[in-house]
Amino acid sequence: MKSEQGKEFGGHEIPRIRRPVCRQRLLLLFIFWGLGTVAPAYGASCTGQGLEVQVLGSGGPEIQDKRASSAYLVWVDGRARVLIDAGSGSANHFGDAGAQVEDLDIIFLTHLHVDHAADLPVLVKSSFFGNRTRPLPVLGPAGNNLYPATTEFVRLLFDRRSGAYRYLGDYLTGENGAYALQVKDLPLPEDRPTRVFDAGGITAYALPSGHGPVPSLAHRLEIGGLVLAFSGDTSGNNKALVDLAREADIFIAHNAVPEEEEGVGRALHMPPSVIGKIAGEARVKKLVLAHFMNRTLGREKETVSLIRKNYGGPIVMANDLDCYPVKK
Ligand SMILES: [Zn+2]
Repeated sequence: MKSEQGKEFGGHEIPRIRRPVCRQRLLLLFIFWGLGTVAPAYGASCTGQGLEVQVLGSGGPEIQDKRASSAYLVWVDGRARVLIDAGSGSANHFGDAGAQVEDLDIIFLTHLHVDHAADLPVLVKSSFFGNRTRPLPVLGPAGNNLYPATTEFVRLLFDRRSGAYRYLGDYLTGENGAYALQVKDLPLPEDRPTRVFDAGGITAYALPSGHGPVPSLAHRLEIGGLVLAFSGDTSGNNKALVDLAREADIFIAHNAVPEEEEGVGRALHMPPSVIGKIAGEARVKKLVLAHFMNRTLGREKETVSLIRKNYGGPIVMANDLDCYPVKK
């Protein structure tokens, strides 16, 4: 069990270069840099065999956590088939992982926070240089008075007349050699997971996760008799999360707040005891924690012992690019 990585994130200071320096001084600075700072936590890569899930971003919205923001890539026999979220920084790791946009069957956006959706235009622009021609489904939550629906979000990005990235407008219409983004909102019942995608041997379910006032979804993927479940951002208060994660071979849950969190943080995120309760009641085979924040990094031992009160299975702390084979 890997559980101590957070200790690396001790808030070391990065030396600043204030004026031009000679080569020797640069070398000294370089050595000092190496001693005094922490490299990003890159994990093992996938094997290219069977079903695997890779954590492209294991952090939250803080850039000081030295991690990319939320994104998960599901590989089947070496092809990246499903992307769940595209948080800031994750598109670079999508490339580092060797994934290709043309292989994706679907992108799920759990919700439209920056740390879950900011890199969507980065992926789309990058794919201009690839060979994709078939449409790319992008499914995400419906909107409310505080957040746009996923269709509106994508339109605000790419609409040919009014979008921020209007120069990529062909990706809404599929014209001029571009493939079309097939964007769909998912207004779903809150009391049970609903099937939202079923093609190419991949069946996906979604459930409103309960993330304060933010329309947000949790996901369950069933592929070749194996089950992956993703909590997304959630307070953990929706009892149907247990159904979503039921007997999952891997359940990826977000460790964004410590146990004592109150107020807005607690309204948005689940503390370790709630993660343990859901994982235990759902009898998941393996629990992977991600979406760490500076308030949870460095507290891994405590987090694990709180989860252990309700869940006895394996617990893993994810780092960026860690890849987990999914097996019975
Ligand atoms: Zn988040």
